[in-house]
Amino acid sequence: MKKVVKFGGSSCANAGQFKKVAAIIKADKSRRYVVVSAPGKSNSGDEKVTDLLYRLYDEITAGRSYKKTIDTITKKYLDIEDDLKLKTNVEYELDAIVNNIKEGAGRDYAASRGEYLCAQMMAEFLDFEFVDAANLIFFNEDGTTDYEKTNEEICRTLENIPKAVIPGFYGSLADGSIRTFTRGGSDVTGSLIAKGVSADEYENWTDVSGFMIADPRIVKNPKVIESITYRELRELSYMGASVLHEESFFPVRKDGIPIHILNTNAPEDPGTLIVESTCRGSRFGITGIAGKKGFCSINIDKPMMNSEVGFCMKVLDVFAQHNLSIEHMPSGIDTMSVFIHQSEFEPCEQQVISGIHRAVSPDSVVVDSNIALIAVVGRCMKSSRGTAGRLFSALAHSGVNIKMIDQGSSELNIIIGVQDSDFENAIRAIYDIFVTAED
Ligand code: ASP
Repeated sequence: MKKVVKFGGSSCANAGQFKKVAAIIKADKSRRYVVVSAPGKSNSGDEKVTDLLYRLYDEITAGRSYKKTIDTITKKYLDIEDDLKLKTNVEYELDAIVNNIKEGAGRDYAASRGEYLCAQMMAEFLDFEFVDAANLIFFNEDGTTDYEKTNEEICRTLENIPKAVIPGFYGSLADGSIRTFTRGGSDVTGSLIAKGVSADEYENWTDVSGFMIADPRIVKNPKVIESITYRELRELSYMGASVLHEESFFPVRKDGIPIHILNTNAPEDPGTLIVESTCRGSRFGITGIAGKKGFCSINIDKPMMNSEVGFCMKVLDVFAQHNLSIEHMPSGIDTMSVFIHQSEFEPCEQQVISGIHRAVSPDSVVVDSNIALIAVVGRCMKSSRGTAGRLFSALAHSGVNIKMIDQGSSELNIIIGVQDSDFENAIRAIYDIFVTAED
């Protein structure tokens, strides 16, 4: 059994968190490859090292004073070094980083040093080998990941190293310079390493005990999702649920490697298991609820539109010409509606409306604004009766008016459109009928 374990910024925020990480690693011998983020916030008033490093870079290159920033960074690392009695020599390393920035090293280089230093310290603390991500992860000139070369190097290098700590978030370009992923990119590093070493599982340790069924800012103490498929997760994250970095699914999903989301501060909690497929049902009939506000629908009316060949195509072409991406498109015999992001539609709304008139001569084009879309996602819906019935009666009882209903052909989700002002109420009503009532 071989596991890749990634620890996020809050799991590496201070010496106390380093000790929790070490206890987790020691508890399971299969946890052999450790990916770390840069130290995150220890408390709400604290700052993430990555944010500080971006600021440091901006201050140095603008010729401004950077003393306060470098002092804050130094203190964060020195506290860890002193408490854990490490030999890293943080002050020497940070001096070198400042000098390199002064001599022209780029912004990505500066940001990457948070992970670089953290991984060095973690490697020493765990007595694992440090392997620099610059020698494992490679980017193309356009910033995309060079998956082939990356996989080859990870396979080749780690084959002979039984236990290693690897910094997350960055890799290198063909000329050897440092390049980072977008923010949160250590998730991607973990996934690439898991694929490269053919891991049995990719554990992603964070500060929550898995993904919640609904947004905790809307539903109080929502239950955690025990298991979720990659497809379900994609539906939820598209609808605004905050999950892992979106590029982190691709490498492991292709190889059927599960991702296990776990909590460094509550390691006994079962967490959420993300899998390609499973015969385990979801405990509540649905897997999760997510949604977003800020959509509008453009409702087009024309008698006999159903028999007019190419009608939809002509309408959609108007949206394409304005580079507008379409979310949903429910239709009736004489009407069709197109749901899109309101903020994208607003700047060109009159051109789109007149474009539709020119293209298909409708009777009317009416815009309905401030609509929220809510996705109720569940792999078990397909084989169970009454999900839609319960959903709609719950919304009716809460006084929520449904403006649109769309069930994808995969029967993996039901999307409903409601007024923005009904959004929170609707989510709570759905949660209550499926989760609270069943618990
Ligand atoms: N440290 C980086 C960030 O704050 C990358 C990561 O944590 O995944 O975005």
